[in-house]
Amino acid sequence: MFTSELADELNELKHAGMYRELRQSPAGNIISFCSNDYLNLSRHPEVVKSASEAVLEFGAGSGASRLISGNLSLYDKLENKLANFKKTEDALVFSSGYLANIGVISSFANRNDIIFCDKLSHASIIDACVLSRAKVIRFNHNDIEDLTKKIKNNARNNSKNFRRLIVTEGLFSMDGDMALLNEISKIAKENDCLLIVDDAHGTGVLGENGRGTAEFYDCANFIDIQIGTLSKAIGSLGGFVVLPKMYKNYLVNKSRSFIFTTALPPAALAAAIKSIELIESGQSLRDKLERNWSHLRQGLSDLGFKTLSQTGPIIPVLMGDSATAVKFSEKLFDKDIFVPAIRPPAVEQGKSRLRITVSSAHKKDQIDKLLNAMSEAGKELGLVD
Ligand SMILES: *Cc1c(COP(=O)(O)O)cnc(C)c1O
Repeated sequence: MFTSELADELNELKHAGMYRELRQSPAGNIISFCSNDYLNLSRHPEVVKSASEAVLEFGAGSGASRLISGNLSLYDKLENKLANFKKTEDALVFSSGYLANIGVISSFANRNDIIFCDKLSHASIIDACVLSRAKVIRFNHNDIEDLTKKIKNNARNNSKNFRRLIVTEGLFSMDGDMALLNEISKIAKENDCLLIVDDAHGTGVLGENGRGTAEFYDCANFIDIQIGTLSKAIGSLGGFVVLPKMYKNYLVNKSRSFIFTTALPPAALAAAIKSIELIESGQSLRDKLERNWSHLRQGLSDLGFKTLSQTGPIIPVLMGDSATAVKFSEKLFDKDIFVPAIRPPAVEQGKSRLRITVSSAHKKDQIDKLLNAMSEAGKELGLVD
């Protein structure tokens, strides 16, 4: 009975065009437009060298959680670098961005509290909210009016003294747009809410110095806690949070996803340290990335495609139903181009899309090849003239 129920559910997914399978990551001749390794740092010779040296010096694994014996000196170095890079008092590294969200949000909000959360927030934020047992109020994506209204409707008074948190992504992973952080941080201050911004995708990419969405808007000082990952533009593995030292001490003592998991392997830490140095020392990778996203956006718009974001490396192209998105993606794959179709539950019903991401490593002729293939597939499927 158990087995047949699971089989039924899988069949339903298949009928709805929502069934997923693991594929090997694209290799060989395939040009891939789906990596989050925006600056190609995972393959940068200096990053690879640092990681290799760390393996030789410290071994393949870290052997225990950080509070036991896994807290290698590399952690101190990395956390100092992160705090300095993000211009905050301190930083704390987790074993992934997912675990950072889980550990931070569930530690700062409890059963009696309220979390106002953007509707398009990443699954790790949603899961963290559930785990906190706080009341979760989701506001419409980037809708300042809706957020303000919901905060006013859930005011604190003398008899009801609870914490209120606002949680949003910085650069949104599925829509590729940016949270209106100037407005949101102002509302947070006015209403005494703790503001947490998960900038997994913006870190290393946006802003004058690559410090992320907060730097882009010049409002980093008004954000209480920023979360990020070492696994995207930083090209390694791990998650982090930048915050006041006292908050860090609190998390080290309270955050279960920090305490009860094994420390990162030395290679991941060393790679991240080197990547941040490269991000801090050079504008040229970011310049290349920006040239690529501008060229691609312009080309898509010339072809008549509707893209969901105006700037940044994430360029979603709206397809509508899942079946069209999947077919489109298959047509591109036939031409050795890999762009994944993103479908529910990752996005809303009817808003299936191709999610194109560019990196600094793409060559102009590769982007042109994508544009040609998009044009053909778009005509075949009746999406553009
Ligand atoms: C990718 C992502 C995460 C998870 O980070 P990992 O390091 O891959 O676990 C968290 N939040 C957002 C917004 C993300 O895009």
